[in-house]
Amino acid sequence: MDPIALKSEFPILHQEINGHPLVYLDNAATTQKPRSVIEAIKRYYEWDNANVHRGVHTLGSRATDAYEGAREKVARFLNAPASRQIIFTRGTTTALNIVASGYARQTLREGDEIVITAMEHHSNLIPWQQAAKATGATLKYIPLQPDGTITLEDVEATVTAKTKIVAIAYASNVLGTINPIAKIAEIAHRKGAIIVVDGAQSTPHMKVDVQALDVDFYTLSGHKMCGPTGIGALYGKEQLLENMEPIEFGGEMIDFVELYDSTWKELPWKFEGGTPMIAGAVGLGAAIDFLEQIGLDNIHEHEIKLTQYAIERLSAIEGLTIYGPRKERVGLVTFNLGDVHPHDVATVLDTEGIAVRAGHHCAQPLMRWLKVSATARASFYLYNTEHDVDRLAESLVKTKEFFGYEPIR
Ligand code: PMP
Repeated sequence: MDPIALKSEFPILHQEINGHPLVYLDNAATTQKPRSVIEAIKRYYEWDNANVHRGVHTLGSRATDAYEGAREKVARFLNAPASRQIIFTRGTTTALNIVASGYARQTLREGDEIVITAMEHHSNLIPWQQAAKATGATLKYIPLQPDGTITLEDVEATVTAKTKIVAIAYASNVLGTINPIAKIAEIAHRKGAIIVVDGAQSTPHMKVDVQALDVDFYTLSGHKMCGPTGIGALYGKEQLLENMEPIEFGGEMIDFVELYDSTWKELPWKFEGGTPMIAGAVGLGAAIDFLEQIGLDNIHEHEIKLTQYAIERLSAIEGLTIYGPRKERVGLVTFNLGDVHPHDVATVLDTEGIAVRAGHHCAQPLMRWLKVSATARASFYLYNTEHDVDRLAESLVKTKEFFGYEPIR
C-alpha cells in the first residue's frame, strides 16, 4: 500500500492552508473523499437521478438498482448474511437510536440492565440513558483500566442475568482502544443479553465480519470511511429486526394503508420511511469499492505503524501526555501539551496547515475519567504518512515554545 499514491486520489488534500501544505489529521471526525466517490455521486446526479422503489420509468429503476446495489455492497463488506439485514441510516447516531428506540424501549422492563462503558461516544451513551429512563431499566458501566482498556473479568462481573443489552464501541474515538468484541459477545449471549456494537471507528480501519463477531446489531458511518456525509448503516440479526417495530412512519415504508391502520413493508424497507439518501448510498458503495481495492488489512497495518511512529515522536516532546493504550489500538493519538488548552494547540497547528481536533470529542464522561476538560487528537487514515507525523511533532515543539507551557504533573 502506497499512501503517497493514494493521497493523489484525494483532490482536497492538495492545497495550502495558511501558506503551508495541508496535513489533514482529523480523520476520526470525518475522512476526505477520493475522486471515485465524488465522481460516482456526480454521475448519479447527472445520469440516474430519480426517486427509488416507485418509478416504473428507466431512471426510477436505475436509481433503485444503484441504491439497492449499494446495500448489497455494505452487506458483503460486513459479511452480513443478507442485504435485507442492512438498514440505511443517516449515520451511526441514527442507527444506534433506532436500536435504542426500536429494540430497547420495546423490550426492556423495570429491573433490566443495560451495560455500557465510560469510553462511549455520546451517540452510544445518551440513547441508552433515555431508554433506561423510559423503561425503568438500569444503566451499568464496565470499569476502565488506567490505560483506557477493559478486562474480560470486569465484563463477566458487570454483565448479569438481568442484563438485556450490552452496547459498546469496537474502537474508541478518543483512546483508540480496540475492544475484544467477539469475546464480549460470547459473554453477553451466555448471560442472555444482546450486543450492540458502535462501529463508527472500526469499520473504516479494520476488516469487520459481523457473523464471525456474532454481534446482534452493528453500525457504521459512511463519512468516516471515504464516503459522503448523511449516510450510514445499521446491521441487525434478522429475527431481531423482524420483531422490531419501525421508528419512522410515512411514505416508502408501508405495505397497505387503511383509514385507521396500516401494515409495513418487509425488511429492510420498513425502517426506511421517506425518500432515502440515494446519492449518499451510491457514494458509500463507491467508497467501499475503493477501500476493498486497497484492502482493509493493509489499511489497518499502515495505521498501526503510523500510530506507533506518532506515539514515539510525540512521547519525545517533554510535557506531552498521550492517553489510551500503547498497543492494540486504532490510528489516532489523543494528547495534551502541558497546561496549554487543546483549542490553543489546534489553533496554532492550523497556522502551520495542520488540522487536528480539540475538545471533548463527544465523550464528556471519558474526559471526566481522564480528569481533563478537553484534549487534542490527531487521527490518521490511509493517505497519511510519516512525513505528516513529523510535521505534527515539529509544530508541537514550536507550539510549546510559543506558549511556554507548564507541564501537567
Ligand atoms: N461513535 C463513535 C465512536 C464516533 O467516533 C462517532 C463520530 N465521531 C459516532 C459514534 C457518531 O457518528 P455519526 O456522527 O457519524 O453519527
